[in-house]
Amino acid sequence: MSYVTRIMSQVQKESRKSLLETEAKIILKEYGIPVTEFRLAKSKHEAMKIADELGYPIVLKIVSPEIIHKSDVGGVIINLNNREEVQNAYVRIISNVSRLKADVRLIGVLVQKMAPAATEVIVGAIKDPQFGPALMFGLGGIFVEILKDVAFRIAPVSKDEAREMIGEVKAYPLLKGYRNIPPADINAIVDIILKTSKLIMDYQKIKELDLNPIMTYEKGATTVDARIILE
Ligand code: ADP
Ligand code: MG
Repeated sequence: MSYVTRIMSQVQKESRKSLLETEAKIILKEYGIPVTEFRLAKSKHEAMKIADELGYPIVLKIVSPEIIHKSDVGGVIINLNNREEVQNAYVRIISNVSRLKADVRLIGVLVQKMAPAATEVIVGAIKDPQFGPALMFGLGGIFVEILKDVAFRIAPVSKDEAREMIGEVKAYPLLKGYRNIPPADINAIVDIILKTSKLIMDYQKIKELDLNPIMTYEKGATTVDARIILE
């Protein structure tokens, strides 16, 4: 059984619908989609040790099957530059989350490398009841959330279609570079769209997938957050 199949069946066995960020990112890695390096910590001492090993700056995030939108509950702290900051952030995240009324299971705290700020893009997927798996592309932040500036294609997509999707959004000129914004590596985004297309074709149990955001650089791109929801 592949890594991916094993994770999917474990999630179903636990009657969960959404994968943990760790599970989603292991799957992405299996498909060759770049993600920020990460490891799970079960204590603040472990978090500090992992942070030292990964190198600074570091981001800490809560890992819980009940928490889908981590920053909404104070579950994400970025820009940690040394052991002390990691220790304090760990304590703060646990206390933010334990204030929630709902029953939440804490799996641990994800320690990950902080990706330098860059142009943020989103690659998503949904399973349309009529057309089956489909892919979405847009730029991060207001472009998707407020302006709904997105492009869709039915999966699987070809390389040409992936390029078309990127070229279609109104914010496209930003990816070509504008004033102080450097150009983004379009080929790296095309590659992520193609690999995501393969993933959702291979695993039709995926109902929703959200790589949000993907930091795109002049050379390369990296996924900093990933959500996968099963049917
Ligand atoms: P949420 O579940 O709230 O969507 P995210 O993992 O997306 O949580 O974290 C919230 C925000 O923090 C992201 O949109 C991104 O701007 C920033 N962020 C998270 N992880 C990283 C990282 N590894 N490197 C840089 N920025 C990050
Ligand atoms: Mg996110």
